Amino acid sequence: MASEAMQDLWNRAKELLKEETSIITYETWIQPLEIKSVNDNVIVLLATNPYQREKVENIYLDLITNTFNFITNKKCQIFIKLAMEDTEVLNPMPNIENNKVFLASGLNPKYTFNTFVVGGNNKFAQAAAMGVAETPGSKYNPFFIWGGVGLGKTHLMHAIGNQILRNNPNAKILYVTSENFMNQLINALKEQATEKFREKYRNIDVLLIDDIQFIADKRSTQEEFFHTFNALYEAGKQIVLSSDKPPKDIELLEERLKSRFDWGITADILAPDYETRLAILRKKTQLDNILINDDILSTIATRVDSNIRELEGILNKLVAKASLTNSPITMEMAERAINDIVTMQDKVISSEYVQEVVGKYFDVSPQDLKGSKRSNDVTFPRQIAMYLCRNVAQMSLPQIGNDFGKRDHTTVMHACNKIEKEIGTNSNTKLIVESVKKILLSTN
Ligand code: ADP
Ligand code: MG
Repeated sequence: MASEAMQDLWNRAKELLKEETSIITYETWIQPLEIKSVNDNVIVLLATNPYQREKVENIYLDLITNTFNFITNKKCQIFIKLAMEDTEVLNPMPNIENNKVFLASGLNPKYTFNTFVVGGNNKFAQAAAMGVAETPGSKYNPFFIWGGVGLGKTHLMHAIGNQILRNNPNAKILYVTSENFMNQLINALKEQATEKFREKYRNIDVLLIDDIQFIADKRSTQEEFFHTFNALYEAGKQIVLSSDKPPKDIELLEERLKSRFDWGITADILAPDYETRLAILRKKTQLDNILINDDILSTIATRVDSNIRELEGILNKLVAKASLTNSPITMEMAERAINDIVTMQDKVISSEYVQEVVGKYFDVSPQDLKGSKRSNDVTFPRQIAMYLCRNVAQMSLPQIGNDFGKRDHTTVMHACNKIEKEIGTNSNTKLIVESVKKILLSTN
């Protein structure tokens, strides 16, 4: 399909998707996707990073497929690919072998030490990460990074991997989220391919597992990870882990894992101070060639003090707006973007609150929503509540599972997919979700 027609198709799909999702969902997950190709009914979209691809595939693929089916009047097949894989294919590196290693590593080439701004909040973590990258498998093993959301843990992990690969292009590096590790293990068990799974994980030089807190309370995953850890550690291979808390505070994590996580070095990342926030904004405008007045950057750095992802979010929004309207970024635009984000932040929506509101709406008690009853008058509200925790409160699948009577994250995923699909096909469900969403966003 010609590129203009393709763009047009994607724009029409986006218009519909915008209607079907919350603003946050749309702007975070759908809008950044780009259309790559359309061949008859096969449509390829590009995600900017592995995280986005995973989210879109797990949660929004059905919705996107339905939307394209609707517009094209055909049964479409949608593939989400990584933009970076795509550019790798277009510009193959001179050494094809290295290229393969790089692709298989799960590393995002954008996250390097060069693009990481050092401040008082992350100085120690950054120095330790550099140490790991220079001498993997020796002094700092395992390396455990912890801290709040959006403060740079994932960035530092990728930076370690990218640096090791630069020093040694043959190094076997694997970056995975603990959710992925768990899903791969579950699949391996299902397909009786645990040997292959073990071979893969024990045959690498550097293992980076992100958000390890999510394996807490998953007994068989912890068991398998324990053996993986031991095998790699004994072979002198580097292990890097991240979490939202220090090892001792991760509830339901086995003691033997907690103690192992403390064997090497533990570093925390704190929220950045004003100077660091400003430095990060300046760095990003430099890297992306963004023209923006320094006063505007100071205003953003002053008012947005929660996390770095949000700082970047504002900047991206401004850039998008400016390019759409073909005008420079103004202070007024910045103020408006900041106000949007800051009001959203004030509305911290907890799962308890979602359960309370959904419970009242359906006349079901929060206990029943969390409990094990499976009659339809409870199951449907429960699924709606899970869906809202995911899409309005932006909670992770394991977290929602935990807050709904310690259910498995795959149950939550199923509920979210089901409701998402129903919103597209059943106007009643759509109405319910919209009304409850309004209540959640207005009174909280
Ligand atoms: P976390 O894993 O802690 O939730 P991320 O590593 O995903 O956070 O960081 C969120 C965003 O902020 C990423 O785009 C990352 O590149 C950026 N970021 C975080 N810390 C820094 C830093 N010190 N310098 C530059 N960018 C940063
Ligand atoms: Mg992260």
